[in-house]
Amino acid sequence: MATSAVSDCKHDPGVFVPVIDRSRCEGKEDCVQVCPYSVFEMRQLSDRDKRAMPLGARLKAWVHGNRQAFAVGAQNCHACGLCVSACPERAIKLSRPSWNV
Ligand code: SF4
Repeated sequence: MATSAVSDCKHDPGVFVPVIDRSRCEGKEDCVQVCPYSVFEMRQLSDRDKRAMPLGARLKAWVHGNRQAFAVGAQNCHACGLCVSACPERAIKLSRPSWNV
């Protein structure tokens, strides 16, 4: 799984980064499991995170334990797309980072 994905990567690290939709993530950890570069970690939403979310998203997060994925190693992303395919909530998109536009 990871070996083939790694060899298929077409981009150097940092060209694209995963962006997680806080209104969709349910903390199911599929991204953590599939990423060959350990880009993601799961953690509790901080008060600041929650304040930045719309009410509906905060309620949904609360139902799911206020635990979501964070792309803490986004600079290591090679844009293989495994996390995008694996997320059951379609919460992840790849985007050009602000430092690369
Ligand atoms: S696209 Fe997703 S799975 Fe692939 S390296 Fe980037 S963060 Fe990891």
